[in-house]
Amino acid sequence: MIYSVKEIYFTIQGEGFQTGKHAVFCRFSGCNLWTGQEKDRANATCNFCDTDFVGTDGLNGSKYTSADKLSEKIEEVWDRFEGEKFVVFTGGEPLLQLDSELIDALHHRGFKIAVETNGTLLPPENIDWICVSPKKGADFKLKYGNELKLVYPQEAFNPDQFKDLEFDHFFLQPMDGKDLQRNILQSVSYCIENPLWRLSLQTHKIMGID
Ligand code: SF4
Repeated sequence: MIYSVKEIYFTIQGEGFQTGKHAVFCRFSGCNLWTGQEKDRANATCNFCDTDFVGTDGLNGSKYTSADKLSEKIEEVWDRFEGEKFVVFTGGEPLLQLDSELIDALHHRGFKIAVETNGTLLPPENIDWICVSPKKGADFKLKYGNELKLVYPQEAFNPDQFKDLEFDHFFLQPMDGKDLQRNILQSVSYCIENPLWRLSLQTHKIMGID
């Protein structure tokens, strides 16, 4: 397997249940719901994306030719820090590329592994933390995991439809963009009225870090 990686960097998880946790973020290139090109955004299944996942030109981005080489780089990026080794695979859509070989290689190096996925693909086994963020109009398949994080609001996409799924935690995350303030207020209001749901803010954006 050749892994196309946009960037790998050390940071603090900024959103969802693991907010505040030290982590290496490994961003895979490519997504199955948008090409990443602005000219295609209007017709994409997912059209509110704020992430550059095209190509391999970011920090530590490359085509990694084996699970061993990619896991070695992830460990190198972590290397300066003590505490539980933690890697978050994101994208783009990480489940297009994350496979058992890479999971095994990282477990062998002592990492806990998290994934942030749009839920349209089923994951390989043994991922330690699964966070699913469903997108309106996409084929939603992954209906279990640790955390369901719904970007809110998405037109005609009622959070209520997810409340009986097999997740441990349910988060509403206000959609970023020109209506952010309004979306925050709507999310707060929904969470107050529906206590199953907790608010997830993108604290890394507030702090001005990646
Ligand atoms: S599914 Fe995620 S990575 Fe893909 S276009 Fe939507 S927000 Fe971006």
